[in-house]
Amino acid sequence: MLVSGQKKLERMRDGRTVYIGAERVDDVTAHPAFREGARTVAGLYDLKADPAKQDLFSFEEDGDRYSLYWLRCRSRDDLLRRMRAMKAIADVTYGFVGRSPDQVSGLVTGLAMNPGQLERLRPGFGRNLLNYYDYARKNDLYLSFAVTPASGRKSADLFPNQQREDPNLRVVAEDDAGVTVSGMKMMATSAVYADEILIGNLTPIEDAYKSEAITAALPLNAPGVSLWSRQPYALAARHEADYPLSFRFDETDSVLVCDRVKIPWERVFLHNEGAMSRRIYIESPANCYQNHQSNIRFWSKLGLIVGVASRVCQANGTDKIPAVREVLGRMAAWEATIGGLVQGQIEAWENWPDGYATPNRRIMYAALNWCQEHHTEIIDTLRTLLGAYPMVMPASIDVMQDDALRGRFESWWKTASIEAVDRHKLYKLAWDLVGSEFAGRHMLYEKFYAGNSLIVRNQSDREAPWQHFHDTVDGLLARIAIPGLSEK
Ligand SMILES: Cc1cc2nc3c(=O)[nH]c(=O)nc-3n(C[C@H](O)[C@H](O)[C@H](O)COP(=O)(O)OP(=O)(O)OC[C@H]3O[C@@H](n4cnc5c(N)ncnc54)[C@H](O)[C@@H]3O)c2cc1C
Repeated sequence: MLVSGQKKLERMRDGRTVYIGAERVDDVTAHPAFREGARTVAGLYDLKADPAKQDLFSFEEDGDRYSLYWLRCRSRDDLLRRMRAMKAIADVTYGFVGRSPDQVSGLVTGLAMNPGQLERLRPGFGRNLLNYYDYARKNDLYLSFAVTPASGRKSADLFPNQQREDPNLRVVAEDDAGVTVSGMKMMATSAVYADEILIGNLTPIEDAYKSEAITAALPLNAPGVSLWSRQPYALAARHEADYPLSFRFDETDSVLVCDRVKIPWERVFLHNEGAMSRRIYIESPANCYQNHQSNIRFWSKLGLIVGVASRVCQANGTDKIPAVREVLGRMAAWEATIGGLVQGQIEAWENWPDGYATPNRRIMYAALNWCQEHHTEIIDTLRTLLGAYPMVMPASIDVMQDDALRGRFESWWKTASIEAVDRHKLYKLAWDLVGSEFAGRHMLYEKFYAGNSLIVRNQSDREAPWQHFHDTVDGLLARIAIPGLSEK
């Protein structure tokens, strides 16, 4: 069942507890901090539910229709369809909503391609996961996830003398009905708008802390759950023309706080298994399906950045200068690179796990690394092209509402190539990419959303065919003639 935007907005008014500082938000769809973001999410749901776009965004299975990102692919064509749907979704938000509904759903879909690994840990857990996969896709749920301990990845090996008093989310009690969890998780992007949240761990948990390994799903209005939001950027954006991205595309980040939250066993997928709490994501396509979406989203984002760079150069009157064209050419090459990396994952798809199709893992991880390595450089390149012009624009487009200021603004702020209002919108957009709080948050997001660089590169290290590389080297070395040895 594909849910409409209206229905999605109703679901956000489910009594969930959200704090902005000490302020309790009653209705995220009405509060100025979240209202436009909620509408953006609703817009995505309307887009998917549009009968005219059915083939682009959904698939049919056993008589039911589901959003395409829930598809457990079985062929290259399936992967291609799924990728196209996710690209169309990412294009709507220009890649600025990282945890859009197609992100964490990829993780659950990937887990559902190898439920046996959970079943082997404890009978019933694999079945729980499959049931949840069915429940989530049938109800077109928007899932967020919190998989980073409050203390980050601070293992006992790194800090042998630490007094571990972190309030990491853990199981504090269990009975026949389920588990009770208390504590916090570092971050839950988009949870303010999502329906449910998956808790788990993307880094291994040591045995001493195995109660933190709990991997489960819960609704965001469950008693005892609260979301502590960081500063919402939309609050600073009175007019869309002043902060075009902050205004509409702040996906929000919150700390997840659980105070004796009860989770029924049916929603528990793993418990007390420290090492496996991470491995389940890489011994199934979960991590790959989820981050394939991240690569696609970055592709959309880079498309916008390159376009803004070019428009800014036109507005600045620098676009014909050969040295500037070289920079623009370099940016265009970046955009083509990420597009190639996404499509390459599908061309070199893997028949894994048995009977299923997965984007090529090595290329997916390489793309993840490429994006993490290049984002700062990409943004800095745009900043360099910009010059000081964002600072020249008035604080607010409300000058247009003032009869005395309007005329001066319109005549003195325009240039030969661009009208004043268009110039204002363009440079404010550029500022939201390189300099605003929203932009700063994205600098952090692109560095960390998939884990720090050690974690991201470890994925490529793990997947690399080292034996093949070694054989190549050894083969070459073996051919080298050594005087006095080889001629005998
Ligand atoms: C905007 C944003 C949104 C996020 N959204 C989510 C979300 O929705 N769900 C979720 O679960 N998490 C989310 N995260 C959290 C993310 O998973 C973590 O930030 C990430 O795993 C990195 O962990 P950390 O922040 O503890 O940093 P750390 O791992 O502590 O890294 C900080 C720095 O220390 C360095 N470092 C760490 N360990 C070592 C070492 N052993 N040797 C050398 N250097 C080291 C790192 O390279 C890095 O430079 C989000 C983060 C951000 C910034």
